[in-house]
Amino acid sequence: ILEVTDLEVGFGGTPVLHRISFSMRRGERVAIVGQSGSGKSTAIGAILRLLPGSGRITQGSIVLGGGTTRGEVEDLATASEPVMRAIRGERIGLVPQDPMSNLNPAMRIGAQVADALVANRTTEGKPDRAQIRSQAVALLAEAGIPDAERRYGQYPHEFSGGMRQRVLIAIALAGKPELLIADEPTSALDVTVQRQILNHLQSLVDARGTSLLFVTHDLGLAADRTDRIIVMSEGRIVEVGTPREILLDPQQEYTRQLVAAAP
Ligand code: ATP
Ligand code: MG
Repeated sequence: ILEVTDLEVGFGGTPVLHRISFSMRRGERVAIVGQSGSGKSTAIGAILRLLPGSGRITQGSIVLGGGTTRGEVEDLATASEPVMRAIRGERIGLVPQDPMSNLNPAMRIGAQVADALVANRTTEGKPDRAQIRSQAVALLAEAGIPDAERRYGQYPHEFSGGMRQRVLIAIALAGKPELLIADEPTSALDVTVQRQILNHLQSLVDARGTSLLFVTHDLGLAADRTDRIIVMSEGRIVEVGTPREILLDPQQEYTRQLVAAAP
């Protein structure tokens, strides 16, 4: 579903990603693991073409498609902004790291989910408000929010951190994306809540057949929940393997240190 080849990204001329290449199969769950500053968010920013500041793709290709049900093949490294706008949400959903800065504090939770549904609608014409509302309630419930009907009308500050993160999962799934990218989606939460949410996220993507690209600095979290782990350091891919291979038989010194340091 995704084929990244020789991707190079620079900030103001300084290369930060050095020709990284990896691919994902449809329905596969892949983790990118690496220490802070290793380039994980930069890789995701490049795929979504949401690089901050002076960040630019200087080389390589990011092909989405190849074996997808919708069939199109698109190089995201060079796609136009209107194409990227359609791809974000509809084909690639993002669960961002910080729920507070990614929800509108002045807007009811339900309305924010409803907006995402309307933005990603595939049917023409005026949206049916009642239908959108019931879809939004269903999506919140699916994301694991109890009593979603009542909570629909509440504001973000009335939600706990974990519940806000579930709202962002609902929003990311609103467009029925083929690929869901989660950038350290739970790192601000306590460990128990993190595991609950990630377990839920995992069952959601499995039920929908959605591919998952899961970014974390926590090797343990990644190993429990993915089919393949990409280890990154200093803007390079150090090693790729199944969780078993990475944990039990790491080939690179860097990975061995990472495994030894994992809790
Ligand atoms: P973390 O685990 O802390 O989120 P990360 O692996 O996501 O780290 P990135 O945010 O991708 O790391 O950063 C990779 C490198 O890119 C770092 O060296 C960082 O200094 C640089 N970088 C990131 N954003 C910018 C920016 N807006 N301007 C300049 N350099 C940046
Ligand atoms: Mg990051």
